[in-house]
Parts: sequence; C-alpha cells; structure tokens
Amino acid sequence: MGSQEHIVMLPYMAHGHLIPFLALARQIQQRSTGFTITIANTSLNIQYLRSALSTDSSSPPNSNIRFAELPFCSSAHDLPPNTENTENLPLNKMINLFHASTSLKDPLLRLVQDIMDREGRPPLCIISDVFFGWAVDVAKSVGTVNITFTTGGAYGTLAFSSLWLNLPHRSTDSDEFTLPGFPENIRFHRSQMHRYLRDADGTDMWSRFMQRQISHCLESYGCLCNSVEEIEPLGLDLLRKYLRLPVWTIGPLLPLEVLKDSSSSRSSISRQHAGKEPGLAPGRCLEWLDLQSPDSVIYISFGSQNTIGESQMMELAIGLENSGKSFIWVIRPPFGFDMKGEFREEWLPDGFEERMRESKRGLLVRNWAPQLDILSHKSTGGFLSHCGWNSVLESLSQGVPIIGWPMAAEQAYNSKMLMEEMGVSVELTRGIEGMIEGKEVKRVIELVLDKAGKGEEMRKRAAEVKMHIRSAIRDEREEKGSSMKAVDDFIRNILCKRQEK
Ligand code: UDP
Repeated sequence: MGSQEHIVMLPYMAHGHLIPFLALARQIQQRSTGFTITIANTSLNIQYLRSALSTDSSSPPNSNIRFAELPFCSSAHDLPPNTENTENLPLNKMINLFHASTSLKDPLLRLVQDIMDREGRPPLCIISDVFFGWAVDVAKSVGTVNITFTTGGAYGTLAFSSLWLNLPHRSTDSDEFTLPGFPENIRFHRSQMHRYLRDADGTDMWSRFMQRQISHCLESYGCLCNSVEEIEPLGLDLLRKYLRLPVWTIGPLLPLEVLKDSSSSRSSISRQHAGKEPGLAPGRCLEWLDLQSPDSVIYISFGSQNTIGESQMMELAIGLENSGKSFIWVIRPPFGFDMKGEFREEWLPDGFEERMRESKRGLLVRNWAPQLDILSHKSTGGFLSHCGWNSVLESLSQGVPIIGWPMAAEQAYNSKMLMEEMGVSVELTRGIEGMIEGKEVKRVIELVLDKAGKGEEMRKRAAEVKMHIRSAIRDEREEKGSSMKAVDDFIRNILCKRQEK
C-alpha cells in the first residue's frame, strides 16, 4: 500500500514526551515500512532527537524517520535564551513555555503545506501531543486528520483532562470531590492537585491554556495511548466513554531489549533510549548493582524535570540511612536552586555521601542516571518515583514495585491508580510541600522490600503487570499481543480514512 504515505508528528517539548514520540515513530515504521515519518519540533529538541536516533542500534539504517526544525525564539516569550524544553526550566516559567508552544502553529502549517506541494496530497495524519489541540485546525485546514497521542496512561490522562476542564474543586468546600468521567466511589483530593491547578478558576494563564488545548483535542479523529489494554482496564474504559473517540493502546513504547529476558550486555540501553549522558557511566552503576543481592536496592528518581524540597531531601537521606537498605539516588539541587548548578554537600546530612560510598550502601548519581539499566537489573527491588508515566512503565515492565512521590502534571493520578487499581505501589508523600519524616521513609522502604506481607503482594502484582506488558508486544503471526494489534488497527484505520476521500 502507498509507499509515499507520510505522517507528521509533533511532540511537546519535554523529554518525557520526545522519547515516546520517537519510539512511536519507530513502532509505526516497523509495522508498516512504506511510511515516511517527519517529527517536527524546535531546533534544540530536534538536535536531541537526532542524537537519540543515531545512537539507537535497533533503528534500521534506511529508516524513513525525518526531522523538521520549526522556527522558535524563546526570548520572545519571556523565557531564558535557548530554552526550548521543560528540562531545568523553573516552575514559574513552565506556563510561558506552554503559551510559547502555540507559536509553532504557523510553522507547522507551512511544513505540512511544503509536504503537500512536494507529494501532491496532504499527510495521512498529524500525530500531535495533548498540549497541541490547535493541531486539529492545522490538520482540518489541509484536509487531513489529527490524532492525539497521550504519552500518559489512560487513568492519569482522563483525571488530568477532566480536572482542568471541569475544575470540580471550585464548586465545593470539601477537600474531597468526585470528578466527571469517574464513578462516584472514586474520589479525588485537593492535595492531589498541583498548586497551579488548585488555584485555577478558568481565567488564569494555566486554565486558559489547558482548557483550550484539551477541549480542542476532543475534536481529533482518535487517540493513541502509551498504555496496555490489560493493565489499565478501568482507566481505558472510562477514557473511551469520556472522549467518545477511538483510543488505540499501543504501549509500552520502550526499547525491545528491556522487554525480553535476556542476559546480554545492556550497558547502553538507557543512553540509546534517552539519548543523554548520565552522571555516572552505566557500566559503573551495573557493577555496583552486581554487588547487591536480588530485589534489595531502592532506586530513587524524580524524572527529567523535578526535584524535591531542601528539608525533604534531608529527611529522605536520614530515612535511607536508618533503613539500612541499599539505594541508587539521582540527586539534583533542591527546589528553589538552579537545577543545573553544582550539588552542595550541605543539602545532605554531614558525611552522608562518604559513609554511603565506603559502606557500598548507597550510590549518588548526579542529575541523570541510566534508568533503564538500573531498573532492569535483578538487584533493583523498588523504585521511589515521581510516577511520571514513562518511569511507571519502565518500572512495571521489569516487575519492580513503586513507592509514589508524585510531583506535578498527572503524576498524582498515576500514583492513585497504581495503588487503588493495580496494587503495585504505596505513596510516601506528595509534591514539594508534602510532609516527610525520616522514620516514615524507613517504614515505607522496609515495607516495599519486605519478602512477606504487603511487599510480597506488591511484587507479585508487579510481576503480573510485567507479564501483561510483555504479552502485549508479542508479534507472532498466529498470536499477536494487544498493543501490536492496536498499532495494526490504527494504521488500517487511517489508511481507510484516506481512501474514503
Ligand atoms: N530518565 C533517565 N534518567 C534520569 C531521569 C529520567 O533515564 O535520571 C528518563 C526515564 O527513564 C524516563 C524519562 O527520563 O524515560 C522521564 O519520563 P517520565 O515520564 O517518567 O517523567 P518526566 O520527566 O516526564 O516528569
């Protein structure tokens, strides 16, 4: 079928979005080699994507994935120079980047028109991020369709969207409330809302952006979701009812190497996947993990753009030390300091790093760790995570239970789902304002690593989820997994849509 078919993709400017979009492009290519895929973004993000693709040995040499740079000037939007990504962006500037991202509309339209001039017809579809609802207009104006790709899970995406669209906390004094799209017995709490959402009233910068983009997305032709049918049955059912659009679950968009039980060297999986230099070489992390016993290490990371408060950091360190358990901790300067700046010893208890190094109990990795390598090592027994959806999928694909510490976006709803629906997680605290004491850290870590009781139960559940995730990507002719079927169905569907015209 149509060797010339072209798909244009537009990820939001954040690592947690760029990485799955690139993985989706590879996935579509593998299923249907006749497609050309152009990923459009700002220049610095394209540089990053190019390097991520070029270090990926699983990508075929004749890959038809192309990149298009869209003009973007951060300083025109009251952003620091050369700021094109949420990474290391101060929290109070996040909204500037959101608003600035709408300036990509005209450049995207020009790109699509160029493609039409060259190829004589519009691209098959535009696959755009949830934050780019305006891509629906671009698609319509050139006679094609927009597909919204949510890099989050179904439950989290629904909760996040419905909260912004309905602002239910505004019509009650109670801390707990129901949410349109969810049954009455599932209640949400004010503390699960990020400060900007809690303060939103429909007129502020945040709600103006979110309400506009999310409601526009509802006019898409369909939705792709980076999840797995079998692991989120409730979330998917509710999301489909709420959106009233087809939702194709095509996840997990992870490198195949981590989804197989192989003993081959994995020292470069993370770099290939995330395209970033870690603060400590993957080999060194793996050697350190080799010294530990199975399921005994807690891995701690808050994703690509978050950090915790100064006093929280101190309490976390105290709890870790008192627990006597081993850990790898990705450290960044605490909230309020320059995240790219030097890490100061005073943010941790006196002599902490040295004691941990000498006893081989704890490994501190600065800024960025080879996360996939760490999670797929047999010594890793728990993940203290901000519950970003990529981290969640990476952890569960390895059967590693989670300790939730959600920070922003839809993370609190991911954390809720992981506890209430999946039973693979306990929550330690929430956000940078959340209370946390060393003794609670110790209790929760012990609970999760426990070989009996709740720890054992969570590990068992996580192992079941891991199995579902791996079955979903099975690609044997007589027995295809649900995610493989969904990608095939999605491709068939948009090709048919083209023929209807
Ligand atoms: N990541 C990593 N090393 C780090 C921090 C993050 O490799 O030290 C990767 C992680 O594996 C995941 C992504 O960055 O693929 C973070 O995405 P997620 O959705 O978990 O969180 P976000 O960064 O969007 O908040």
